[in-house]
Amino acid sequence: MVEKHQKLHEQSKGKEKKNKIYIIDVTNRDGVQTSRICLSKLQKTMINLYLDEMGIWQSEFGFPFTHHERNYLNANLKLAKMGVISGMRLSGWIRAIKKDVELAKQYVPDLEYVNLSISTSDQMIVYKFRGKLDRDKVIKSMVEAVKTAKAVGIKALGVNAEDASRTDMKYLIEFALAAKEAGADRIRYCDTLGYDSPFSIYERVYELAKAVKIPIEIHCHNDLGMVVANSVSGAKAAVDAGVDAFINTTVNGIGERAGNADLVSVILALKYSSQIGSKYLLNENINLKIAWRIAKYASYAFGIPIPINQPGVGENAFAHESGIHADGALKDRRNYELYDFEDLGRGEPEIIETGRQITVGEYSGIKGFRNVYERLEIKFKDEKEAQEILELVRYANVHNQKPLTEDELRFIARYPKIAREIFTMVPPEVTTEGVELYRH
Ligand SMILES: [Zn+2]
Repeated sequence: MVEKHQKLHEQSKGKEKKNKIYIIDVTNRDGVQTSRICLSKLQKTMINLYLDEMGIWQSEFGFPFTHHERNYLNANLKLAKMGVISGMRLSGWIRAIKKDVELAKQYVPDLEYVNLSISTSDQMIVYKFRGKLDRDKVIKSMVEAVKTAKAVGIKALGVNAEDASRTDMKYLIEFALAAKEAGADRIRYCDTLGYDSPFSIYERVYELAKAVKIPIEIHCHNDLGMVVANSVSGAKAAVDAGVDAFINTTVNGIGERAGNADLVSVILALKYSSQIGSKYLLNENINLKIAWRIAKYASYAFGIPIPINQPGVGENAFAHESGIHADGALKDRRNYELYDFEDLGRGEPEIIETGRQITVGEYSGIKGFRNVYERLEIKFKDEKEAQEILELVRYANVHNQKPLTEDELRFIARYPKIAREIFTMVPPEVTTEGVELYRH
C-alpha cells in the first residue's frame, strides 16, 4: 500500500521515467574498419542520411583523429547544422588518450559527441599494452581523456571498455565508476570477441548497471553466432537494472570478422520477439520503412550481397513455396509471417531499365548528364549550373568507382558545396624524396 502510494505520488510529480533502448549505429566506424571492406566518404554520408531518416539515435560517423576523415566529418557536421541531418547525433570514435582527444577537436572543431575507447581485460592489458599500461594506468589514461573531452567542449560522451566480456568484474566496475565520476554519460560494454552468451551478458551487464548506475551501451560481435540475441539480452539487463540501454548495430551486420549486430534484425527483435516486444520499447521515432532502402544501398556500396535468408530484407524473408506454407500464408499472413513486408518498405514496384541506358561517369558529357537528371526531374537554372554539377558528378564517380545511385545524384545537385568538401582530400605534406627499391 505504501509502495503504491509512493508510486502514485511520483507519477503525479511526473518523476517516473521509463527506461528505453536506443540504437547507436557504428557502420561508419566498425563497419569500415573491417578487413576488405570500405566505403567512400560520399557513401558514408549517404549511410548517415538514411540512418537519420530512419530515426536512429546516433551514428558513430568516423575517426576524427584520422587525417583523411576530416573533410567528410566537418561536412557532415555542417549537414547537421543545416538541418539536413536532423535529430540524429553524429559521434566520433577516439582512443582514450588525452592527446588524441585534443587533436580530434582541433581537426573537427564542431564535434560534440564522442566515444573514448581503451582495453580493460588483463588479456589485452598484458598482451597488447605489454607493460606500457597496467590496470591503474588504463583508468588514469581514460579519466584524463574524459576530463579533456569535457574541457574542450564535448557535450556528451561514452567510455568504451574494450574486451569488457573478458574483463574481471570487480575491475570493470571500478573502471566504470571512475568514468562516471570523471563525467562520462555512458559505458560501452564491448563483447569484442563475441565471447558472451545471452545468459552471461545479462548477468554481467545487470551487475555493472546496478553497481554504477550509468546508462550502458551494448557492443557485440558475431563470432559464435549469437550477436543479436546477446545485444537484446544485454540491453534488457540494463533496462531491468534501471538505466537506459543503447545497442550498437551495423547495416547488414557488417563489421570486424563475423560482424556486428545487424541494424534491421535488432529492431525486429526489439519490436516483435516473445517477451521483449512492446515491453522494452525502443525509441518510438524509429521508422522501419527505411530498412529496405538502407540495406540495399549498403549492399551496393560495400559490394556485398544481402544473404538470401537475411531477416526482413533477404530475398527469401517473405517467400513461401511449400504447399502447406504457401496456402497458409495466403489464407492469413500471420500463419507464417511475424511482421509485414510493407513495414520494412518492401513491396513497391522497382523499375529496372531493360533497353538503352545512359549513365553518368567520370568521362560523361553534358547531353547524357542532362538526360539522367531529367529522368530524376531535376532542372538546372542555366548552363553554368549544369556544368558545375556535371563536374562534381564526374569527381563523385572517380571517388566512388561505381555508377552513382539516384539518391547520390540528387544529393550532389541539392548540396553541391557540401559534396565538393566531401570529395576533397589533401594528404599532409610529404618531405621524403622517395624510397629506393631493390630487386631480388
Ligand atoms: Zn567492434
